[in-house]
Amino acid sequence: MNRQNNARTGPGTAFITGVTGQDGSYLAESLMSQGWEVHGLVRHVPAHINDGETTVDGVEYHLGDLSQPHDVGSVLKSVRPDLVFNLGGISSVYQSWQQPYETALVSGASVVSMLEATWQLQQATGKEIRFLQASSAELFGEAKSAPQNERTPISPVSPYGAAKAFAHHAVNVYRGRGMFAASAILYNHESVRRPAKFVTRKITAGAAAIAAGKLDKLSLGNLDAVRDWGWAPDFVDAMERIVSAANPSDFVVATGVSHSVQDFVEAAFAAVGIDNWRSVVELDESLARPSDAAEMRGDITKISSELGWRPSMDFESLVAAMVRNDEDLLAKDKAPQL
Ligand code: GDP
Repeated sequence: MNRQNNARTGPGTAFITGVTGQDGSYLAESLMSQGWEVHGLVRHVPAHINDGETTVDGVEYHLGDLSQPHDVGSVLKSVRPDLVFNLGGISSVYQSWQQPYETALVSGASVVSMLEATWQLQQATGKEIRFLQASSAELFGEAKSAPQNERTPISPVSPYGAAKAFAHHAVNVYRGRGMFAASAILYNHESVRRPAKFVTRKITAGAAAIAAGKLDKLSLGNLDAVRDWGWAPDFVDAMERIVSAANPSDFVVATGVSHSVQDFVEAAFAAVGIDNWRSVVELDESLARPSDAAEMRGDITKISSELGWRPSMDFESLVAAMVRNDEDLLAKDKAPQL
């Protein structure tokens, strides 16, 4: 972790919710490689984790449910962390339309119980606990222009965005109360650990399967959505910098470059040697959303100038890395379910 701006002296204990997810698992690996003791909250014993989740050797897992304030409080008390990374919750916008109430509960209200439990523990022990919330570009769903920055009005268009907006405000409330509570406003970020319910992995796994003759068609909801897709390990580095900064604040984490879903499709099929992608991609309205965020593109001026962070991976390399991984998995008969 970059500790240039950090007032504290050495690694201690970190607690991560969403620890088996894409970001949580990369973060756990990164923190442990720097000597941190890492604890994480899980709903199932690690031996029974779902497809698309990743466990990391050396992490101490604690059973608990984000929607149960008592679980969160007692686990926090037993771990006594120096850092809390709140990455848990329903992470898929699509899923939030199927489960709007559960999304409000675990991606919105539960953040308050996490903040409150952290505040109470800090009050009881007198030791500072730094809190990092995984906030989201979906806060800006209705944005009238791109790029968006930390001052762009909050105007979500999905149940996920609304839950994240509530959580974002709650983090600000606890910051006002005197807690080190910071937000990383994360734009879409992908990797080989991205589950196939997200469009990028669906496309790279689909392109690899079609090229291998194991799938006929790839169905997508639309090709027009425009997103700023970054590389998840870069975003984890950004989170570490934000939690180590001199003061708690909100930071947009993005690449500053946007592409359409169609650009992603073209790049992925080109990477598997299929030029005529239109013959194998079909549109299925049932996969489209009742309303979808406009052009998502983040302005990274603040995090670049204040914390020296920059993305390391460009769009073409990101697509190619995901496609190569899916080709390898297919060859090993370990391709994700589409
Ligand atoms: P999100 O931005 O967090 O919702 O991440 P996703 O990867 O799920 O979706 C990114 C964009 O791709 C959104 O604008 C979706 O509407 C669009 N999209 C188009 N077709 C699909 C599809 O078949 N599946 C998903 N997940 N997204 C799709």
